Amino acid sequence: MTLKLNSVNASSDLSNSDSPVLIIGGGVAGMSCALWLKQLGLLPVIIEKNASLGGQLQEIDRINRWVLGFQGLTSQELAQEYSNHIIAENIPVICDSKIVAIEKTASCFQVYVKKNRGNQSLFSVKGIVIASGARTIGSEVFSKIPGFNSLFFAGLIGCFPTDHLDQLESLRDKTVAVIGGGDNAHFTANDVAKVATQTYLLMRSQPKSQIKIRNEVNRLIDQGRIIKYSPVQISEFSQIEGRIELTLRSLNADFITIPVDRVFVRIGYAANTEFLLTLDNLKSIKTQTGGYIEIDTERRTSIESVYAVGDVANLALQSVVTAIADGAIAARTIAKDIDNHGVCRC
Ligand SMILES: Cc1cc2nc3c(=O)[nH]c(=O)nc-3n(C[C@H](O)[C@H](O)[C@H](O)COP(=O)(O)OP(=O)(O)OC[C@H]3O[C@@H](n4cnc5c(N)ncnc54)[C@H](O)[C@@H]3O)c2cc1C
Repeated sequence: MTLKLNSVNASSDLSNSDSPVLIIGGGVAGMSCALWLKQLGLLPVIIEKNASLGGQLQEIDRINRWVLGFQGLTSQELAQEYSNHIIAENIPVICDSKIVAIEKTASCFQVYVKKNRGNQSLFSVKGIVIASGARTIGSEVFSKIPGFNSLFFAGLIGCFPTDHLDQLESLRDKTVAVIGGGDNAHFTANDVAKVATQTYLLMRSQPKSQIKIRNEVNRLIDQGRIIKYSPVQISEFSQIEGRIELTLRSLNADFITIPVDRVFVRIGYAANTEFLLTLDNLKSIKTQTGGYIEIDTERRTSIESVYAVGDVANLALQSVVTAIADGAIAARTIAKDIDNHGVCRC
């Protein structure tokens, strides 16, 4: 279904408000922040680079069992519910757009926004909330390993955390390698081992998954359904007679090769913060490993009047409910900062 979003025109819609706040990213964190800002009497404006709201939730057509009160809904259905709420509240949204420049004046930020294949507009805002989320990095990181790209583009290597679920039937009687040591790698190995003849779990270091799924995988390891190699690094992929040959290197530099039919890479996430480097007034923002933005407990960043919420700033727990809570906390902080000193204190 295509949503009819509340499009906004900079000069007409924002000029009547004393306190417009720009939210970069229309995932669940950005939407939650927008809703709370509106209830607190401010004017949120969401800018989203894609055609619709929802962020990562839009990519996941599986039941989401982690959100209180929404039993049985898939993540995509949750995205729809949240988008509907934003539309019903008449919160302005600018989709298909990106920020091309930000200037700081005495009392606000001047933000230049460009529509994909469209015009540029100028917004004056009192504060900026970064809610640009995170992404899986499997294909980015592994594209540098010899042999990866051709197998990835041929569909023999999957890098999205749930892509194995659509292929389970075709994995029956096959040999499969799962690469990674976190929750997603363990969930994938557990699912795959139920159908595959042999499953390998290849980890660079100690497992980092939650204990419940790790115990389930350990049981399958004890039964010989999963073979674990750890610590190992993948040094090469090659295709031999329709199969994939994986070359692994152990810590003491021994090389092992294993033939498999499919590979699933589950090596984690990085924050979507590269775009900040192109923006003069935001590029000095403090980040940590993986590009995650450093924030204080009230979601302020190292730059005055700039806040960050959701996966882009949360290394501890990336989830729908924490993103919703983050949005609410940031909104409350912004309202307080505006009340105390008008936010921009340049
Ligand atoms: C496979 C998978 C399964 C998951 N399952 C669950 C689950 O069952 N339960 C659960 O609670 N959580 C789950 N999660 C995690 C959950 O989806 C995320 O924690 C949550 O959606 C994060 O929301 P967010 O708003 O912080 O970021 P995102 O959803 O990433 O949204 C960020 C938005 O910002 C936009 N954006 C990025 N850069 C720019 C820019 N420069 N300009 C404008 N817009 C920009 C993006 O297009 C995107 O719409 C899962 C995640 C994945 C990948």
